[in-house]
Amino acid sequence: MFALVGRLVDYRSVKEGAVIVEDNIVRAVVPAEELKEWGVDEIYGGSGYMVIPGIVNAHTHVAMAKFRGLGENLPTEEWLERIIWPMEREWTREEIRRWAELGIGEALMNGSTTINDHYFFADEIAKVAEKLGVRAFIGQTVMDEVDFPLASPEEGRRFFRRWWGKSDLVTPTLAPHATNTVSLELMEEIAELSAETGARVHTHLAQSRAEVKEVRERYDLSPVGLLKKAGLLNERLLGVHGVYLEASEFQKLAEAGSTLVHCPTSNISLEAGTVNLRKLLDIGLNVALGNDSPNPAGIIDPFIEMRTAGIAANVTSGKAHAVPAREVFGMATANGARALGLKAGLIEPGYLADLVLVNSRKPQFLPGENPYSDIVYSARGSDVELVVVNGEVVYKNGAFTKFGKTVEELWEWLRPF
Ligand SMILES: [Zn+2]
Repeated sequence: MFALVGRLVDYRSVKEGAVIVEDNIVRAVVPAEELKEWGVDEIYGGSGYMVIPGIVNAHTHVAMAKFRGLGENLPTEEWLERIIWPMEREWTREEIRRWAELGIGEALMNGSTTINDHYFFADEIAKVAEKLGVRAFIGQTVMDEVDFPLASPEEGRRFFRRWWGKSDLVTPTLAPHATNTVSLELMEEIAELSAETGARVHTHLAQSRAEVKEVRERYDLSPVGLLKKAGLLNERLLGVHGVYLEASEFQKLAEAGSTLVHCPTSNISLEAGTVNLRKLLDIGLNVALGNDSPNPAGIIDPFIEMRTAGIAANVTSGKAHAVPAREVFGMATANGARALGLKAGLIEPGYLADLVLVNSRKPQFLPGENPYSDIVYSARGSDVELVVVNGEVVYKNGAFTKFGKTVEELWEWLRPF
């Protein structure tokens, strides 16, 4: 049993006190003075610290850290065709494992306690997630409209069956790559497996104009129309991006209880546009937040994504302060947890002990009058001092405690690649 002490901030409330962690859950939330009655083994944090629910990074491709910074000035289609796809065809199992170690380390140290990732050699990513101790929803990306041997539907099914119900930390998902790279037949098959098992479905959705055009040409359907026809429009669906969805499609997602994962940095970089976040929240759509690939995002830091989401919302809605920091913070925590069916995202007894200790004893956190704004606009991943996942300290002061390496050792270890 251990405790995290400081200002406890979840999107619903702010209070000073201590969170007591036992096994893998929050056992109690008490005033700091009462801590001695609990006989905890270890106390982390203290005056000036903030304790927040771990961030649910609802869309990542951690291994793509390998592509960081490449092709930065190319138009998106060219960037994909000249840089990303040729390199992706060359992946080896060993390389994916190494780059997943780097990417998951980066995600953890910057405050993500859960990642929702889909990529190739998903087995390797799943094993790395267990090794470093991040909670991970992982899908083997599948495509059948594009010739891409690493993304075969058979491997997708095999990966899913190998990991389903096997791990405390890793939950396999079903990951059709996007609405234009997967046929309606394969989407239907995925919908059946999802209905049978309750598995989440994680897919790119209307990320580019080309995607929407191809779906329209092939089926005379919109991307959401295609998902609906396949039987995928339900609360288990996480559609990512949605840059080119129409108002009626967002409405259908909201009515179905599906989640839209917003990745503003990726959208702004690759598409020079993004969704009108205020409108989506107003229609009751569950919107979660994701970093997407470290190329173009640059860093797997959910604090930067929160900040970008808040600022971008002003531009897309034409209104200052369109989405308050508190709401943005709720998207990155509780909404992500809801999307994945996790009892997490709040600091409350009985909830999963996925927690982050932020060292806010720094100038940018004063006067400390608005903790939500402090988290969304003043904090960075580098302010994270300690990360707890499933009741276990997995990162502390620059060291991955479960993995047994420091941040610098991880960097050293990956350099030859
Ligand atoms: Zn993506």
